[in-house]
Amino acid sequence: MTRKEFIKTAGLGIISIPMITSLKSLEKLTNSLPDTEKMPALFMGHGSPMNGIEDNEFVREMIAQGKKLNKPEAILVISAHWETNGTYVTAMENPRTIHDFGGFPQELYAQQYPAPGHPVLAEEISKLVQPENTVHLDDKWGLDHGAWTVVKHLFPKADVPVIQLSIDYTKDPTYHYQLANQLKKLRKKGVLIVGSGNIVHNLGKIAWGKLNQNYGYDWAIEMNEKVKKWILEGSHHQLIDFNKQGVAFNLSIPTPEHFLPLIYTLGVKDESESIALFNDQYLGGSIAMTSVKFG
Ligand code: ZN
Repeated sequence: MTRKEFIKTAGLGIISIPMITSLKSLEKLTNSLPDTEKMPALFMGHGSPMNGIEDNEFVREMIAQGKKLNKPEAILVISAHWETNGTYVTAMENPRTIHDFGGFPQELYAQQYPAPGHPVLAEEISKLVQPENTVHLDDKWGLDHGAWTVVKHLFPKADVPVIQLSIDYTKDPTYHYQLANQLKKLRKKGVLIVGSGNIVHNLGKIAWGKLNQNYGYDWAIEMNEKVKKWILEGSHHQLIDFNKQGVAFNLSIPTPEHFLPLIYTLGVKDESESIALFNDQYLGGSIAMTSVKFG
């Protein structure tokens, strides 16, 4: 069907108006971004902000993962640290580096990750996601530590544009999964989609004396093992229903923001894609650094 025929058909009422909008968006997207081989999608366990400057085994693995990636046209990060009422995408030319943490060494506050933004991609995303006006453009945020402490290890030169998509805290997990489904096609436009959080994340229960011993509480290990099994099996519905999975899940996910970035990366996954785990370790009993590469 040519575009003209499509519009003619649409005019007969056979195809709904939202579909026309969607087609237009896609057409524009095709024009503004080149087709590429499909980029992988990553879920990165980010852990402590100190990973932004430390040399440790997690960071070394992030660097190694970065070296395996083709250079993307852009990176879209869904970080645990940007929660909003409504869904927003950063649309500024030059996102600032946000030091959204307290009580860390001055060296960490001095860090800058001066990657450019990608206003065109941000606008395309706002048009691509249906229904219209689901995703709003933002000119105030930037790159929070969930984004820059991870992406700087993947692309140390800060020469790839980075944008962030916020997590709407008013919405249920299904909303996030379905929104991510609509972003999947960006992977064939050279966009590396990165979810940044932690599968197990309970700061209130950290065993401070056991930060460097790959120590996980029994419930943390039980939960993380189940999550990995369901990721590998493709049992996404079990993961979307994380708040119905019992005590180990409730302890591992006291609040959803560090888990939801995983739901986004599951939502952009194709059915038959390779899955690789890395940094599959625990910190202080109640944090898992477990990270996943799709494709
Ligand atoms: Zn965090």
